[in-house]
Amino acid sequence: MSFDSKRVAAYIRVSTEEQAAQGDSLGEQQERLTAYCKAMDWGTPVMYIEEGRSAKNLKRPELKRLIADVEAGKFDTVLTTKIDRLCRNLRDLLQTVDLFEQFDCSYVSASEHFDTSTSVGRMTLQLLGTFAEFERSRISDNVKATMTSIVKNTDRAMSDACYGYKVVDGAFEIVEEEAEFVRLMFDLVFQNMGYKKITEILNEKGSRTKAGNLWNQTSVLRLIKNEKVKGAVYHNKTTSKGDKVIKLPESDWIIKENNHPAIISPETFEKAHDVLRARAKAGRFADSETYLLTGYLKCGYCGANMRGKMSRAKGRTTIAWYVCSRNTSGGGCRYHSVNRVKIEAAILSELEAIYNNRDPEYLEKIVKQKPKKKDEHNELNEQLKKIDARIQKVIAGWTNGFITDEDMKKATARAEEERAEISEKLNNIKHEAIDVSSIMGRIAALNGMDRIEKKAALRGILDKIIYKDGEIELYLTT
Ligand SMILES: [Zn+2]
Repeated sequence: MSFDSKRVAAYIRVSTEEQAAQGDSLGEQQERLTAYCKAMDWGTPVMYIEEGRSAKNLKRPELKRLIADVEAGKFDTVLTTKIDRLCRNLRDLLQTVDLFEQFDCSYVSASEHFDTSTSVGRMTLQLLGTFAEFERSRISDNVKATMTSIVKNTDRAMSDACYGYKVVDGAFEIVEEEAEFVRLMFDLVFQNMGYKKITEILNEKGSRTKAGNLWNQTSVLRLIKNEKVKGAVYHNKTTSKGDKVIKLPESDWIIKENNHPAIISPETFEKAHDVLRARAKAGRFADSETYLLTGYLKCGYCGANMRGKMSRAKGRTTIAWYVCSRNTSGGGCRYHSVNRVKIEAAILSELEAIYNNRDPEYLEKIVKQKPKKKDEHNELNEQLKKIDARIQKVIAGWTNGFITDEDMKKATARAEEERAEISEKLNNIKHEAIDVSSIMGRIAALNGMDRIEKKAALRGILDKIIYKDGEIELYLTT
């Protein structure tokens, strides 16, 4: 035994499952640690043997005894075969090693060559500590990063197959008999049918859901909205809090396009959803093709929708009207109505007039700008205001003699330059905002359409129509 011989405690842990595992048996650990101490020229280790305990299990009597002995100053070093013998998670490890250090006791793991009495060992420990800190503070980011990497790097099916697919060898595969019905659903969307009508047609044709049930509007809607049918997977769209399902912001979504064979091409998928959004906007009366303007025609008194209503007076022909829905529902507006044939004819001829005239200034007034453009527009106007305010300040400073003539000239010249730049941007936005040719194309296409087709086509043309006492205000969409 050499002079600087260390007092070593060897901690050995074997769980019952590990007893048989290679190199981890009680005897083998004992042997290795004894050999290690001999090789290092340390003293014979005192053994602390934990049998049938897992690292997760906090009730480890031998570890408790060891810690008490370390605190009593009995040892210079605690030795294990591997780090995971002592603690399974990093936080516990750091805490335990910290405690040892307080009593001038280092920790050595034989197989990882980890020794806290050396500078490398201490550095490793510090690094580990930093990682543990990082892990704690970024736990949610870690989860997302891990999920993202799993999703991006695998074509394994990580969720159940939806209608139209099955999971074969862990990947999504198209079920052709079902895929036919998926294609039919999308065809029907393009034929301008709502969920209700599509549901009826599917059930009539004998199609059943994966679970073998009749389709209903919700199951149809869910499938049409399911990104899987276009070959993509979207994860992390929702999370659950208690028993509530919460939608997550788009920035949290984990998207992988081209994950598996598509039944519906991504372009068709997007187009179909445009059609459905337009339908939703046109409101719940969209299915009644007899009224072309429902959803767009607004009462000029209260702003509510004007909806179709038949008058069925005895002995007279039935006449179709649009009536303020706030009046019909007893919501308090006055009886405010317009003859269906008259207003529809007026709108169609107004559209024709717009087509023939194409007065850009008038179009600018009646075509609703896309919200994004509007934001940009507002932002630029704000900047103009700021420049004006700045010039005001410069002028005030000059009047009071704080600013020289020269500086005042420079400041105003610079402001003028900026102002010209912003004005030009504003002008460009105005011109970009209105895609005249495509609106004109859509108006021209109205010719020769039947009512059902017209009703569908008007969705791409009208934004809203305000009606008040025989006057109409027409607004178009881009
Ligand atoms: Zn009204």
